[in-house]
Amino acid sequence: MSEMHYDAVIVGAGISGALIAKQLAAKGRNVLILEAGADGGAEASTYRSYVDAYHLTEVKVPNSPYPANPSAPSPSVLDVGPIAPGRPDTAGYFVQNGPNPFRSNYTRVTGGTMMHWLGTCLRMQPNDFRTRSAYGQGVDWPLSYDDLAPWYERAEWEIGVSGDKSENEFGGIHFSKDYDFPMEPIPKSFSDRWFEEGVRGMEVALPNGETKTLSVSTTPQGRNSTPRKGSYKVGGEKQPPYGAAGATGAYAFQGQRCEGNSSCVPICPIQAKYNALKTLSQALRQKGRVEIRSQSVVSKIETDGATGRVTGVVYKRYEFPGAPAWEMKRVTADAYVLATNAIENAKLALASGLCPTSGQLGRNLMDHPYVMVWGRAPRPVGPFRGPGSTASFPDFRDGGFRTKKAAVRLELANWGWNFAANAPYSDVARLVEGEYLFGPELRARLRDEVQHQVRIGIMPEQLPSALNRVSVNPAYRDSLGEPRPVLDYAVDAYSRAGVLQGMDICQQIFQRLGIENRSTYDPNDPGYVSEAGRGFVYFGAGHNAGTHRIGASRHDSVTDLDGRSWDHDNLWLVGCGAMPTIATSNPTLTMTALVLKAAAGLERALEGKS
Ligand SMILES: Cc1cc2nc3c(=O)[nH]c(=O)nc-3n(C[C@H](O)[C@H](O)[C@H](O)COP(=O)(O)OP(=O)(O)OC[C@H]3O[C@@H](n4cnc5c(N)ncnc54)[C@H](O)[C@@H]3O)c2cc1C
Ligand code: SF4
Repeated sequence: MSEMHYDAVIVGAGISGALIAKQLAAKGRNVLILEAGADGGAEASTYRSYVDAYHLTEVKVPNSPYPANPSAPSPSVLDVGPIAPGRPDTAGYFVQNGPNPFRSNYTRVTGGTMMHWLGTCLRMQPNDFRTRSAYGQGVDWPLSYDDLAPWYERAEWEIGVSGDKSENEFGGIHFSKDYDFPMEPIPKSFSDRWFEEGVRGMEVALPNGETKTLSVSTTPQGRNSTPRKGSYKVGGEKQPPYGAAGATGAYAFQGQRCEGNSSCVPICPIQAKYNALKTLSQALRQKGRVEIRSQSVVSKIETDGATGRVTGVVYKRYEFPGAPAWEMKRVTADAYVLATNAIENAKLALASGLCPTSGQLGRNLMDHPYVMVWGRAPRPVGPFRGPGSTASFPDFRDGGFRTKKAAVRLELANWGWNFAANAPYSDVARLVEGEYLFGPELRARLRDEVQHQVRIGIMPEQLPSALNRVSVNPAYRDSLGEPRPVLDYAVDAYSRAGVLQGMDICQQIFQRLGIENRSTYDPNDPGYVSEAGRGFVYFGAGHNAGTHRIGASRHDSVTDLDGRSWDHDNLWLVGCGAMPTIATSNPTLTMTALVLKAAAGLERALEGKS
């Protein structure tokens, strides 16, 4: 029943799969991408239908533009509930053992989860790669910042990052002399600049005796601004200016220039924000042949018991979402790549009995347990315009305090209390239903209340723990008979202590700027946790990571530095699951750097050079 034999079969058409396909096809390889999502996902009309669905839906959560697909279900943030001890929460796609709920999601459509990412593209700091040596916490990476730096440059080029080099050289981050971000930075918002002015020269004394002087830096972002002039080098190679807005010819895939529609999560209506469809469209234009086969849910990776090599991939091809039947198919290749997101990669590999040696497969599941502090500014600050965040306080992303407490990134938000309190919908409901306001009076009050809303997001690092894990249990299956991910997850004391320190810093900033703190945390919320007698609510950041970490030894990692399985030498596992630690940066840029490195290693292997 085998079909054509390929140079490589890639499972998953998100950014990880798309990038590997593009790199291999550029070398003339024949590549098949098997994608679980419904047909038509890469077509313009489908994208338009997502935008229309977004406009029509009342509840604008990350997955709301993308139609529910019973044949390839995705987790939803709306399904998260409390977990009673000893009784898993099975209400959503995940089977949640707890003790805390895993609050993040992902999307199984062509283009993957980047369809609704925010676009934040930060590099990790040098100490983030060596937290065990520097602070006695987590694990050291098998490579350093300097090892990854040329791949960061290529990753920023592939995604198309707008940024300001001078504002991002903190905590040891450095750039090569003749390199700059592909596009000019997205400007700081009015509120960012108000915060920056307000905290100028402000010092924060931490309980461990360290003092930090606050700064506000622009966030590098995967969204189009204006192209930079002149040519420069990326990964040591000379490149023409990045095309960005209004681009034609080879750069036509790049989408429009960001015009501030403020709906990046869940969808950018004009594709100013990067999504993986852009890379897929480039992959399809390479000299090799790339085929995307959607409605194809990979079910099993087959191996040869004697050699460990992968011999084929079995997938279920469904005729339409929710179809009661499906066809079993099998395909073969010289190399196989799992690129289905950290949780699905681990699930598929575990269900196929892969990568047994280290015992680390599925373990060390991490996210950023995201906590919000919000308040009313003493003046209007113009929220609800532009991307969700354009700047942050980077000062607590590293420091000696990491021996005891998690580092945090303090993210300045542009969308008022939207994420924290469902503003402005909740404001309208309160004023209409609670105070019976309408007409000009309602408009005036709304303007007044909404215009003063500020919020800071606290993003703590989370340590890898063997107890936080993905597993499979034959008792829990989806409508195609595929296992649903079973999750054990806890937000540990280290992250909680980091959050408390972050909350104290936010309070000092609020006091300095005269912001009235309006943060409240409902003890009945499933994400309510406490530390040292203080409670708060965390949310998921969508940064699922750590489940198939890279390493220098087959005994404590799942793959080598290039994502090649220690146990199956023609199998690669790529995506955020490769990250040994998560630090405080949103992970996709680092993941992309690793994916590009993996693609180069895979191409070498196909050439028979390694
Ligand atoms: C709300 C939200 C906001 C985010 N914002 C940011 C941000 O600002 N910055 C940042 O760095 N990161 C962000 N992220 C994280 C980012 O989206 C992920 O890191 C990234 O999408 C991972 O890419 P991937 O290709 O590895 O996986 P995905 O993008 O999830 O793609 C996986 C693909 O595999 C397919 N697939 C799954 N199972 C199967 C199967 N069995 N067979 C065949 N195909 C399969 C899926 O359909 C999908 O197309 C955010 C995430 C969320 C949820
Ligand atoms: S702010 Fe608007 S135009 Fe800019 S990336 Fe977000 S949704 Fe797209």
